[in-house]
Amino acid sequence: MVNKQRICDEFIRQASIDSPSYKEADIAKYLEKRFKELGAEIKFDDAGEKIGSNSGNMIARISGYKNGAPLLLSAHMDTVTPAQGVKPVLKDGIFYSAGETILGGDDKSGIVEIIEALEVLQEQQIPHVPLEIVISICEEQGLLGAKQLDFTELEAKHGIALDTRGVDIIINRAPAANRFKIDISGLEAHAGVCPEQGISAIQIASRSISRMTLGRIDAETTANIGTIHGGLASNIIPSQVSLRGEVRSHNINKLRQQTELIVGIVEEEVNKAKIIVADVTKTAMMALELKEDFSPMAVAEDAQIIQIMKDAGAALNRPQKIQAAGGGSDANIFNGHGIEMVIMATGMEKVHTIDEQIALDDMVKASELLVEIIRRT
Ligand SMILES: [Zn+2]
Repeated sequence: MVNKQRICDEFIRQASIDSPSYKEADIAKYLEKRFKELGAEIKFDDAGEKIGSNSGNMIARISGYKNGAPLLLSAHMDTVTPAQGVKPVLKDGIFYSAGETILGGDDKSGIVEIIEALEVLQEQQIPHVPLEIVISICEEQGLLGAKQLDFTELEAKHGIALDTRGVDIIINRAPAANRFKIDISGLEAHAGVCPEQGISAIQIASRSISRMTLGRIDAETTANIGTIHGGLASNIIPSQVSLRGEVRSHNINKLRQQTELIVGIVEEEVNKAKIIVADVTKTAMMALELKEDFSPMAVAEDAQIIQIMKDAGAALNRPQKIQAAGGGSDANIFNGHGIEMVIMATGMEKVHTIDEQIALDDMVKASELLVEIIRRT
């Protein structure tokens, strides 16, 4: 039923259209035409204008001669860089990029598999519930497209994002993240002449960091200080240090607690760093920039969408593995808007590198699974 050659041709066409984040217009134009051929009604929202991309998110709708709640399918049309002049090469059944670029299987494999499933549904005249399909922009830029998606366009209450490595894997949990920047301000002074008049921001930072628990906090939570910048010269007591870090957790309370813990430690150390110069008390200061990056994704293992996917896998003799992800994706945003959304593996491998690859057979498998899922929904 699924047509391997058609998948191969479709992947080559899409991979050959460069689509780095913010520059998705070319692939968007192609996809609009392609989905229209498959009977979809297409809309683009205004997310592109809001975030500075030359395309909006694409929303496609296909009715399907079967009553029932719509099923949402999603993938993203942007890729990471280097993505200039991508040339897909098929060698021994596996796609690679020809040169010094990524391949873009992340996430064009997902789009190709959705298109192949639609081809099969149409060809075999398989009745199905209405499908809502979102192909987002700027996913690789912190889910910017999905964050600006016009959710009033969607009726679906559950769905599948095709956007992860491997085959026969369902992701039902992904952490939420807090990213932060902490600026510590001390007091500058000549390190050799009058060190008593300085407050070292570097020392405050180091005392703070040495008290923090970082790395894996527990099974659900991680924390990191990723960059530290500050200081001007060896003979100046440094007045400025910036720390950037993050906390991730599958549990929203732990996420908040762990973030507060880190910020609280810096606050304490900043408050301790007082000096008195000529009877005047001088203090250090701090400024916090906190960005809550996405809401967590936590779809129950007995949710209907997972049950359908497991049954579809079983029917194809391919048991599905249910896993948690370490990072966020568009599915986090959909879940944050009350849509039960899990992630399905597309076969992509070594993503975000120039060694990125994907086996044609794995795209065939994912397409077969998707057809079976849609048929059973
Ligand atoms: Zn992706």
